[in-house]
Amino acid sequence: MQVLSVASEVYPLVKTGGLADVAGALPLALARHGIHVRTLLPGYPRVLERLGERAEAAALPDLFGGDARLLAARVGGLDLLVLDAPHLYDRPGGPYAAPGVGDWPDNAQRFAALAWTAAAIGQGLLPDWRPALVHAHDWQAGLTPAYLAYGRTLGPRPATVTTVHNLAFQGQYPASLLAELRLPPESFAVDGVEYYGAIGFLKAGLHFADHVTTVSPTYAQEIQDPASGMGLDGLLRKRGDTLSGIVNGIDDAEWDPATDRHLAERYDAGSLERRAANKRALQERFGLDLRPDAPLFCVVSRLTWQKGMDLLLAALPELVGNGAQLVLLGSGDTPLETGFGGAAVHYAGAVGCIFGYDEPLSHQLQGGADAILVPSRFEPCGLTQLYGLRYGCIPVVARVGGLADTVVDANDAALADGVATGVQFSPVTVGALVAALHRTIRLYRQPEVWRALQARGMSRDVSWSRPAAQYATLYKSLTAGRGD
Ligand code: ADP
Repeated sequence: MQVLSVASEVYPLVKTGGLADVAGALPLALARHGIHVRTLLPGYPRVLERLGERAEAAALPDLFGGDARLLAARVGGLDLLVLDAPHLYDRPGGPYAAPGVGDWPDNAQRFAALAWTAAAIGQGLLPDWRPALVHAHDWQAGLTPAYLAYGRTLGPRPATVTTVHNLAFQGQYPASLLAELRLPPESFAVDGVEYYGAIGFLKAGLHFADHVTTVSPTYAQEIQDPASGMGLDGLLRKRGDTLSGIVNGIDDAEWDPATDRHLAERYDAGSLERRAANKRALQERFGLDLRPDAPLFCVVSRLTWQKGMDLLLAALPELVGNGAQLVLLGSGDTPLETGFGGAAVHYAGAVGCIFGYDEPLSHQLQGGADAILVPSRFEPCGLTQLYGLRYGCIPVVARVGGLADTVVDANDAALADGVATGVQFSPVTVGALVAALHRTIRLYRQPEVWRALQARGMSRDVSWSRPAAQYATLYKSLTAGRGD
């Protein structure tokens, strides 16, 4: 089966979050199911730089304000189609925003162009390749199924899937852009792209796709509830039986403590004592007291309200007061960076922070810290707790979304049954987080119990093999009888 995946970020070319990991890993895992995926992404400068050999696959004159072309290239096993549109993407800064300025003012055009191109490929733009299914990720690709629904097609329309990686990002733009975005007047309706008086990119994707997925079964339920549906719960409830959750996997070759080139000491479940050297390296790097017996918590996260980082800041006195330490790697909201920066000074020797994005260091935290904290208010899937499981870095998580689906709480029953893999807390409050920290520290003080938790987490299959099989089943059910 031939599939076109459309995403605004794809690891290892460009990444700001979990979407890139999924878009980069899923195609490789699907290949084992006989599914050939080509991935369409924008030609940001950093993407074009890393392409190497490329061929022009199609010319796209006058694409939302300038001429563009589609480049075909292969990178690390990925079969890429890169949208080279200099007027939209050739600029410094991030994929969505200019440093210090905020979102690019023409993001509507930038990502409409991506979706438009995806729809064109779905309708036969490439003479020698046509997908049976188009898989659109997040709001940036959200208009794809809408363009396919309104577009004239030269043959059978491909099946469509929209995946929501985070409902908080919806891509809403003024209704006045309708014609410029090449959407017909009749599309501005509840049964179209209209969303609270504006054009909703994600709304369009959710409305027009044949099937909607999100990245965990619990999140798929949560977003149908007004409390977590962010204005889209009504539409999502309507999608009910065409909405499902598939938990993300992780790249278990890239994330393997036995072979991880970023670690001072590599280890597996049978040699957990070797983590001690990694822990010491972290304590040194973050300027902490070299206390081998102190429970060392870590955070690898965007520093935002979603991630519950303000709760952690409020819980820090309890964490430190109980003899534990914290190392934090993250970047995000200025007040949180200021708060954690102040805590590192106030609790010198017990709290250390590095602000920024550092992929190797994120591996070192998983390979050296005793536990990883993920106190998110909502979490569609979450990846860092999966890395934690794989690295024997016990996940301490809020019981929401994908965190609820991937960590088994070490309550008495689960411990007795030998199924626990971490610590969950609920509700997502400072008090419940503090209680979870106390509970984790008590578990840590029982080395045999702790080691069993680590070994069990490390034995869990968090690879892409199961999720890829689920996507393959879904793709096949959606294309059955369509003649591919
Ligand atoms: P989200 O996509 O909401 O940010 P996820 O847990 O799904 O959260 O994915 C976050 C990804 O980004 C993980 O791979 C995590 O390791 C990585 N990450 C987050 N912050 C940093 C950072 N400061 N440095 C390195 N990697 C980071």
